[in-house]
Amino acid sequence: MRKASKGFAALLPLLCLLLSMAAHGTDTTAKGDWLLLPERVWTADGDAAHSGWAVLVHDGAIAAVGPAASIQAPAGTQRVELPGATLTPGLIDLHSHLFLHPYNETLWNDQVLTEPQDYRTLEAAAHAKATLMAGFTALRDLGTEGAGFADVSIQRAINEGLIPGPRMFVATRAIVATASYGPGPRGFRPDLDLPQGAQPVSGVDAAIAAVREQAARGADWIKLYADYRVGAGGETAPTLNPAELKAIVDTAHQIGRPVAAHAASDAGVRMAVEAGVDTIEHGYGASEATFRLLKQRGVAYEPTLTAVDATSEYFQHYVPGKSEPTERMREAERAFRTALKVGVTIGNGSDVGVFAHGTNWREPAAMVRDGMTPAQALHAATDVAAKILRQSQHFGRIAPGMAADLAAFSGDPSTQIDALKKPVFVMKAGVPYRTPDMTP
Ligand SMILES: [Zn+2]
Repeated sequence: MRKASKGFAALLPLLCLLLSMAAHGTDTTAKGDWLLLPERVWTADGDAAHSGWAVLVHDGAIAAVGPAASIQAPAGTQRVELPGATLTPGLIDLHSHLFLHPYNETLWNDQVLTEPQDYRTLEAAAHAKATLMAGFTALRDLGTEGAGFADVSIQRAINEGLIPGPRMFVATRAIVATASYGPGPRGFRPDLDLPQGAQPVSGVDAAIAAVREQAARGADWIKLYADYRVGAGGETAPTLNPAELKAIVDTAHQIGRPVAAHAASDAGVRMAVEAGVDTIEHGYGASEATFRLLKQRGVAYEPTLTAVDATSEYFQHYVPGKSEPTERMREAERAFRTALKVGVTIGNGSDVGVFAHGTNWREPAAMVRDGMTPAQALHAATDVAAKILRQSQHFGRIAPGMAADLAAFSGDPSTQIDALKKPVFVMKAGVPYRTPDMTP
């Protein structure tokens, strides 16, 4: 009797764990053995897809990849046939805003000022699901835009299996120079103190404190705004000064947080790079000399071409396939082609949220439109992005031992990038979220 109760006591922690996993909706039975049989596999090693290859998944990880005939699947393995489809590593978007939705639905100012944070968090959960179902299994979410630290809760709910979504790398509030972001004061009564879309700082001490506060509350990355529309005529100019930039970067690095910099002007990009940031976001106005500096310092670049496409559609009557590109689109394309020519590391980062979540495929498609090969764009959204995230030992390629983060698309995106519009299979950590038999 005593022996039996002792045994039960030993089992209690396991029982509690299983019960809590069930309560959180984690389907542990789904994490079995899977044999995936697509038309071809694009592993991210090299540029071409391999016809007739298969992938074996065991306990959340990739166990084998190669010609289908060479793979021995254990008894009880579930088979998923994906005829006509290409299996790729799960895609990665390095610049998202799950707490925003398209500006032609609601202007940014109105989202920040009128939508309650609770409501925005529910929206973010729906956006996370749409992202995962589109084949994107990891996101770097660069700021909640006025929704505080709610991205940390979304990340937790996804990790606990409470809601479906990609792996999240979050930046919480982001850091801006005082009165250099929005909403207001420009365009509003100057005597109003409005809630802000990021954390304003002035001075080295405040900059250091903001990094420490954000990191302690869950920021995996620190996002700063190196420039914004603060010029006398509303033109983009640097905001944080070199001492503030350096204080943010050094404090973040000391505690193991990489730094992403919003920078659109040549001066802003250059100052951010000189301060030691890890990635540049947008970079539309950067010169060739500045891109050479990125290359030299190993700073990666997220071009966010789709953000410019989308705002041109909303506010400048641009119609894709019909109108001439707007001046802003031409500027973004010039920057992208220069970075490509110079050999800067380019990661797939779209600024999704400005446009609809779940249509993240638009950025790789825009990168191909503006000069990349489809295989280059796929690399930017898989192994290159994983490296920028410092996660390449965990995901971003299809190879034995890597997490089973996988997606399949009808057609072959390594030769026709538009195939990314048609996801037919999505798996994250060995759990299938979309199969040809499931209605998502
Ligand atoms: Zn952004």
